[in-house]
Amino acid sequence: MTDTAIPTTISLIVIGILYLLAVGVIMRRRGLREWDAGLLALYGVISALWTLLLAFSRLGWLAMLGDDASAMALLYGLPFLSLLFFHLSRAFLRLEGPDQIWWGLGVVWIAAVIVLNENLLALPDRMWVGPGWIFQRQSLPFWVLVVGWGLFMGGATIVTARVYRRTQQPLHRNRIKYWSLSLALNVVGAGFFFAGHETLGSGFQFLSILSATYAVVTYRQADVRQIGRRTVSYLVITLLTVAVYTAGFVATQNIFQSVPGYSPVLAGVSMALVLAVLFDPLLRLVQRLVTRLMSGTQYDPARTLREYSANISNILDLERLAKVAVGLVSEAMGSRGGALFVVHYEEGTDKHGENGSGVRGGCFRLQDVTREQNEMFQGVLAAESPVARYLQREHRPLTQYDIDLLPRFQSNSPEERTWLTSLDMDVYVPIYAQGEWIGLLALGRKVSGDRYFEEDLTFLSTLADQTAVALENARLFEDLKNRNDENERLNEELTAANDELARLDQAKSNFIDIASHELRTPLTQIRGYNEILCEMIRDATVDAETGAQMTRGVLKGVRRLEEIVDLMFDVSQIDTETMVLNASYTPVATVVGMAVDSWTGALQERGQTVKVDGLEDLPPLWADGNRLNQVFSHLIQNAIKYTPDGGHIRITGRVLDVEMPPQDRTVEIVVADNGIGIAPDDLGRIFEKFYRAGDVLTHSTGRTKFKGAGPGLGLTIARGIVEAHGGRIWAESSGHDEQMRPGSQFHVVLPVRPQCLKSGGLEAFIAAVRVEDDSVKMTI
Ligand code: ADP
Repeated sequence: MTDTAIPTTISLIVIGILYLLAVGVIMRRRGLREWDAGLLALYGVISALWTLLLAFSRLGWLAMLGDDASAMALLYGLPFLSLLFFHLSRAFLRLEGPDQIWWGLGVVWIAAVIVLNENLLALPDRMWVGPGWIFQRQSLPFWVLVVGWGLFMGGATIVTARVYRRTQQPLHRNRIKYWSLSLALNVVGAGFFFAGHETLGSGFQFLSILSATYAVVTYRQADVRQIGRRTVSYLVITLLTVAVYTAGFVATQNIFQSVPGYSPVLAGVSMALVLAVLFDPLLRLVQRLVTRLMSGTQYDPARTLREYSANISNILDLERLAKVAVGLVSEAMGSRGGALFVVHYEEGTDKHGENGSGVRGGCFRLQDVTREQNEMFQGVLAAESPVARYLQREHRPLTQYDIDLLPRFQSNSPEERTWLTSLDMDVYVPIYAQGEWIGLLALGRKVSGDRYFEEDLTFLSTLADQTAVALENARLFEDLKNRNDENERLNEELTAANDELARLDQAKSNFIDIASHELRTPLTQIRGYNEILCEMIRDATVDAETGAQMTRGVLKGVRRLEEIVDLMFDVSQIDTETMVLNASYTPVATVVGMAVDSWTGALQERGQTVKVDGLEDLPPLWADGNRLNQVFSHLIQNAIKYTPDGGHIRITGRVLDVEMPPQDRTVEIVVADNGIGIAPDDLGRIFEKFYRAGDVLTHSTGRTKFKGAGPGLGLTIARGIVEAHGGRIWAESSGHDEQMRPGSQFHVVLPVRPQCLKSGGLEAFIAAVRVEDDSVKMTI
C-alpha cells in the first residue's frame, strides 16, 4: 500500500462509520414505520457497507473473495444505490402511484448489467472498431451502468423539480430545497466515483445522505432563504468592518501620528472600541436592509399592534370587523389574504368508544365571516380531531405545513384535511375569550414567498389576543341582532296568527249567527205546522186535505234542514281534504243540463230564462259528474236568487289552449246573469266560508227567493270542488247595483284531464285510469 492510500482508506472507514451513525439517528428519531425513513435507513446501511467494502478491498482483505467478487460488489453497489435514491425521492415527496413499475425497471436494468458482464449473450470482445478507436465488450457493462444511473438520478431530479414547481407553500418548498441539495451532492459524488476519486465521491455521498437525513428527520428545517440572507448580511458586515478598520487605521497612521503623545496601542484600542460599539447596530441595520431588499416586507410590530388595536376596537359589525382585521394583518404580514372564522361549539350526543371509553361527539363549526354565507367557507372540525384539539388547547398558531407533515395530525379525517387544504391558507391563529376558543384567523401565503417565521407567529398570537375582545363583542352584538330579528319575525308571526284568530273568530260568530238563523227558520216552520196539526187533531177538525198540507209543510222544513246540514258536511270535507271524487268521463252539457233541470220550478216561479250555449262542443272531462253538478247547481241557484223576477241567465262554454294536445286542454264555462251584481271588494271574499255580501242577518231566507240568503257556503263548496279537479273559479262583475242590475259572471275553468284529483280523489282517479287503459279508450 502506498503512503497516500493509507489516509484514503482511513477516511473511507470513517465515512462508513459516519453513515452508520446517520442510520442510528434516523432510527431513533423516526423509526422504521415510515416509508421514507425506512428507505433512507436502508440507503445508509448499503452506503456504509459499500464504503467499507471499498476500504477493505484497498486493504486487500477481500482477496479471499476473489478479485471478481469484490469488483462486482463495487460495480453493482452504485446502480442499486441510485435506484434506491430514486424511490427515496418519491417517498420523500409523497408521490403516489404505481411504484412497482419503477422497481421492475430497476431489476431489469441490473439484470441487463449482469447479463452483459457475464457475457451470457456471447458477444465478441471487440464490439465496434472505428477509425482509430475500438469499443471493447468489457466496457459495455460500465456504460450501461452509467446510462441507467443517469436515468434514475435524472428521474429523481425531474420529480423533485416538478413537485417543487407545483408546491406553493414556503415551508414545503424549503423542505424540498434540502432534498435538492442532497440530490445535487449525490450526483457530484457519483461523478467523482465515475472519475475514479473514491474518497471525494464517498465524501460527497456522505454529505448527500446528511442533507437527506436532515430533511427526513426534522420537520422544521432551517430556512434556506434566511440562511442566505444571514450569510449575505454577515458578508456585507465583514466587508464593512474591514473597510472601516482599514480606513481608521490609515487615518490614525496619517493624521494622528503627528499628534504629540501618539501611541499606536492607544489608537488601535480606540479603533477597536469604536468598531465594537458600532458592530451590533450596524449588523442589525444591514440585516434589516438585506431582508427588505430580498423579501420586500418588514413591519414594525409595536406600530402595527397600535394601529390594529385602534382600528378594530370600536367595530361591532362582525363582517366589517373581520374584513378590517384580516386586511390589516395581511397588509402587515405581506400575505396574500386571509379569513376570520367565528367558531361555535356544538354539543354532540355522547358515544362510547370502542374500548368503552366515553367519546364526546361534539364539533366545532367554523364560519368565515369575511365572505358571504357560502358552503365552502364553512367547516366542521370534530371536537376530538387533532387539529381541533390543538387549536382549542395550545394557544399557539398552527401552520398548514404542520398539519400536512406532523405525525400527530396524521389521524385527522380526510374530509377535514381536504377542507383545510381547500382554504389554501398557510397559518391558523386561534382566538380565545375567557379561555374559550371563539375564533380563527387564517392567513394565506406571503407574497414574498417567505415562510411565517417564529417571530411572525408570536406576533400573530399577540394580534389574535387583541382581536379577542372585539370579536367577542361583535359576536354578542351579532347574536343580539339575530335575536332581535328573530323577535321581530316572531312578532310578525304573532300578529299574523292574531289576525287569523280574529278572522276565525269572526267566521265562528258568522257561523253561529247564520247557523242559528238558517236552522231556526225551518225549525220554526216545522214546529208551527206541527202545533197547528196537533191542535186540529185535538179539536178533531183536521180533514185529509189540510192534514196533507200540514205534513208537506213539515217535510219542506225537514228538507231544508237536511240541505243545510249537507252543505256544512261538504264544507268540512273540503276543509279536512277528505272529499272523495269518483272520476269518470263527464260530458259538460249533461252535467249543466241536469243542474238547470233541477231548478225548472224555481225558474218558472220567478219568470226567469236560462240559455245554454256551446256546451255540446266541449270535450268530455275526466271528473266527478255529481260534484260538478253540485257546482253548477249552486251557481244557477245564486243566479236565480240574485236576479230579480224576469231576469236572464246565460251559460256558455269554450275550449281554451286549443294549440295544446287535446288531453292537455282546459275548458271554460261561464254562468252569467243580469242581476244585482257584486261589489268589487266582495268579488274575492264571496268564496270565503260563511261570507255573504251585506249584512248577514238582513237577508230574507229562502232557496230561490230574490236575495234569499243561504248559509254562505255555496261558493265555498263550489270552489273546493273545482280546485279539487285542478281547476279555477272566479267571479266578475262591474259592481253591485239593485237598480241598474249590472249582472255577474262566474267563470269555471276545468282541465280536460287533471294531473291529479285532490281531496282524496287521487286514488279513485288512478284506479279509473287503470280501468280506462285496460278497456275504455278515451276519445277527445
Ligand atoms: P249564499 O248561501 O249566501 O248564497 P254563497 O256562498 O252561494 O252563499 O254566496 C255568497 C255571497 O255571494 C252571497 O251572499 C251573495 O252576496 C254573493 N253572490 C253569489 N252569487 C251571486 C250572484 N250571481 N250575483 C250577486 N251576488 C252573488
